Amino acid sequence: MEHAAKPIRHNRTITVNFRDEATYFALLGTTKAFVEFVLAFLLALGFQLLHKASCSAGGSLTCHSHYARIRLGGLTIWRVQCTACKAVFTVLPHFVLRYRSLRPEVARDALLATHGGLSLELCAVIHHLSPMALYRLVCAFGQQSLVKVLTRCRLPLPTYVLADEKHSRCLTEKVYLPTIISGRVIWHLGYTEHASAAALTESYGTFQRAASQQEPSYRVRGILTDGFDSTTKSMRTLFPGARLGNCLRHAINKLPKQLAAIALPVRKALRSQFHTLLHHARQRKGLRVFALGQRLRHFAGHVTRTAGAVNGERVRRWFQDKKAGWYAVLEDPRMPATSTLLDQAHNAIERKLFMMKGFHYPRGSQQAFLTGLAHLYNLVPYQRRAKHAGQCGVEVEGGTVPTRDWFLNLQILTSGGFR
Ligand SMILES: [Zn+2]
Repeated sequence: MEHAAKPIRHNRTITVNFRDEATYFALLGTTKAFVEFVLAFLLALGFQLLHKASCSAGGSLTCHSHYARIRLGGLTIWRVQCTACKAVFTVLPHFVLRYRSLRPEVARDALLATHGGLSLELCAVIHHLSPMALYRLVCAFGQQSLVKVLTRCRLPLPTYVLADEKHSRCLTEKVYLPTIISGRVIWHLGYTEHASAAALTESYGTFQRAASQQEPSYRVRGILTDGFDSTTKSMRTLFPGARLGNCLRHAINKLPKQLAAIALPVRKALRSQFHTLLHHARQRKGLRVFALGQRLRHFAGHVTRTAGAVNGERVRRWFQDKKAGWYAVLEDPRMPATSTLLDQAHNAIERKLFMMKGFHYPRGSQQAFLTGLAHLYNLVPYQRRAKHAGQCGVEVEGGTVPTRDWFLNLQILTSGGFR
């Protein structure tokens, strides 16, 4: 794919939290103390190192590994080579960003301002850096996949998801952002130039492959969409056997479009009655599906009586077309019923893309950039409700993050050397 992230050399950098710079410099002098500190850090997180596939040393460092101190941009850092597989790990202290001269404090504030919706240009002005440096920083974090980062937070792969595409623009071209979320967490945020089933399958397929790699037995049980044909087709292809539901809120909003040439109050009344119908169907638990079929028939008859035979017939056909998707939602109480949370995620991403529209160009790193924005969405704490005050999306969904510092978490979790 033209705009997919460029393949990179295997990055085995590990960002380690040394708490403060003084601790780091004190440890630099003694190999034993240094290695013990790094091992304790790995142990506390429960992370293993990404050795080569053939390695016999397991997932950690041993005292037999080769240790070498190197100078990198005026700073001494340790490089460790596994004697068994020859994989080389670069131990990056938390106060240094990989390949970047930016100080983490500056990067943290600039990213937070970006995440909050301040334009890239103004973020750059208040933090004395170039807008392009900020763009590249987001792209750098976006090199690591969402599935990897989220499973490092011990979130189980999602069995019930919401999937839909956000329509956006790259300069004057229409583009689409295929998205998969579960609760407050974005699991996939892709980029395509076409809304065809093939293009969407290609994008959603990257999530499916990443998830299956993580857990070969991975199965999606239920998917809620807004009923767009290409999305439904691509979901059927990628997740055969998953229950496919249609958003109930969308159904309520679409009903008025089926009613032509009637007075506004009649249309409003029918919409509100349809809302009540679906609401009651959801409450009825065991009887929900049976009750819905009967109620839909009655409702179509009611439309015929109040809005004429033509409208009644159109609504009847629309019900025929859509009801399987509504049944799917009502049959399984674990199915999400509305796509509200997905709309919230899309709105948050769209605000940032709009702020950054000067940075869209046809051959940019859109995929890496979007993934970087999705990491911020998942890891920056938000204070929307007192219940979740101070927590990030990952924590709200039951995941754990390495530290109380979101930026440090972003650095650690997107490191290439962890497995
Ligand atoms: Zn090894």
